[in-house]
Amino acid sequence: MIAPALPAYANEAYADFNVPANRQRQQEAIAAVRGQLGRQYENWIAGRAVQTGEWLESVNPSHPSEIIGRHAKANAEQARQAVQDAHAFFPQWAQTPVEQRVAILTRTAEVLRRRKFEFNAWLILEAGKSFAEAEADTAEAIDFCEYYARQMLRLADPDPIVQLPGEKNEMVYLPLGVGIVIPPWNFPLAILAGTTAAALVCGNTVVLKPSSETPIIAAKFVEALFESGLPERALNLCVGSGSEVGDTLVTHPQTRFVSFTGSREIGLRINELAARPQPGCIWIKRVVAEMGGKDAILVDDDCNIEAAATGVVQSAFGFQGQKCSACSRAIVHQDIYEKFIGVVKAKTEALTQGPAEDPGNYMGPVISAKAKQTISNYIETGKAEGRFITGGATYTGDGYFIRPTIIADVDSKARIFQEEIFGPVLAITKAMDFDHGLTLVNDSDYGLTGAVYTRDRNKLDKARRHFHVGNLYLNRKCTGAMVGAHPFGGFNMSGTDSKAGGPDYLLQFLQAKSIAEKIP
Ligand code: NAP
Repeated sequence: MIAPALPAYANEAYADFNVPANRQRQQEAIAAVRGQLGRQYENWIAGRAVQTGEWLESVNPSHPSEIIGRHAKANAEQARQAVQDAHAFFPQWAQTPVEQRVAILTRTAEVLRRRKFEFNAWLILEAGKSFAEAEADTAEAIDFCEYYARQMLRLADPDPIVQLPGEKNEMVYLPLGVGIVIPPWNFPLAILAGTTAAALVCGNTVVLKPSSETPIIAAKFVEALFESGLPERALNLCVGSGSEVGDTLVTHPQTRFVSFTGSREIGLRINELAARPQPGCIWIKRVVAEMGGKDAILVDDDCNIEAAATGVVQSAFGFQGQKCSACSRAIVHQDIYEKFIGVVKAKTEALTQGPAEDPGNYMGPVISAKAKQTISNYIETGKAEGRFITGGATYTGDGYFIRPTIIADVDSKARIFQEEIFGPVLAITKAMDFDHGLTLVNDSDYGLTGAVYTRDRNKLDKARRHFHVGNLYLNRKCTGAMVGAHPFGGFNMSGTDSKAGGPDYLLQFLQAKSIAEKIP
């Protein structure tokens, strides 16, 4: 039996940037990180640093001429080597006592805690996060490490099973093998850390392929894992474009599972490729795929309009709407429709925007020139599909800025009602009544997050039963899931509902073995 040696889990407290001393520390950390910009980083394959001579340049989306760093780009041969070596090392890592694996996670959490302002600074500069969004990202990474450490201890000492007369009956959880971990850029620390730590603590070896948009934060987290005692061959870092190394990693016969978070298009591709039998592959690969969202907030006529408008604006425009949980559809009761639009418009136009390193800015840039173009195209589509309320115009600086944009009177068949835009664009649609509103929120291929604002208890109960999403929020915003409290994952085309940060999450990276011994 493994005694739980850790104190009870609690979410990491956030630094309050209204406190001048915290703002000061963050600004000092940004200045210190700026002194390290432009360095080269190598991949880590089969226990050693490697490069190909090809480099991927990561830039600051607030100031694209500022180079955050250059990361070595892996090729397909290196991707194959990474899987092969992870497979060779798997038996050793799988046999490492659970307490040692758990201790690596808690030490990693400690490293992140100690260097929190520094990690925030990398997030501010490489991903364009505001101070508060960067703080939430780093705190969530710490939470994932601490939470999965405790969950692994629980699973290492499972609940007893039924004992048959004359037998000793047990069930134990074993790791699976080599996991390919593919996170997105929008939570470049939290999701990357959570998915990597979960796979590792279960005793799997990992090939981590981060997003090409944020490779330097990935390199920094990998440093933290090794600093915390992770064996050199338990983890491979394989930065490279998804299209060049992705298929090699997913289809490799020694790959046992893929843990993906990203777009629907890539998630479905990975799911399909992983399912195809490959010569020499002796298992059905598991795929955990957490994908996009088209998240709605339903605003009823009897709600507190002020609170609902604040919730919609925060959910729609926090981190420039680049969250899978972001509100991109507000479905509003006809009796308060115009009034609500007026309040939301005023709040939106009051949002400050500019370079992310300035704490006065609520909103920063979108991630890349390509994202800016895609979002701008959607805004033009939206202008033809509905009534333009505000936004659209772009900031005149050199960064990838887009003003928060609202389009009203959007039909449920319109593209901006149905397609994930992944930027600061909110569609508003009129509902005849609460039931019609529920029909509209569910008129989507996705089913990730959603919220309802109403004072009516019966309507809240109805939403509990009929609002079909993995994460439902009542009278609060639909972003900001907390590890442990809001296990996260979506329905339908939002993915496999893995419930990251929940008690069932680790089971996806384990297999159960039943053992029955006859008692003489
Ligand atoms: P993405 O374009 O799908 O990329 C996600 C990851 O997949 C990146 O690391 C990317 O690498 C990699 N990739 C691309 N092509 C690949 C291939 N053929 N094989 C293997 N890997 C491949 O998504 P994103 O733009 O980074 O992130 C935004 C999306 O993620 C949105 O749809 C958002 O809703 C979703 N998301 C979902 C959740 C959730 O929990 N449900 C959370 C966060 C984000 P490269 O960068 O090198 O191409």
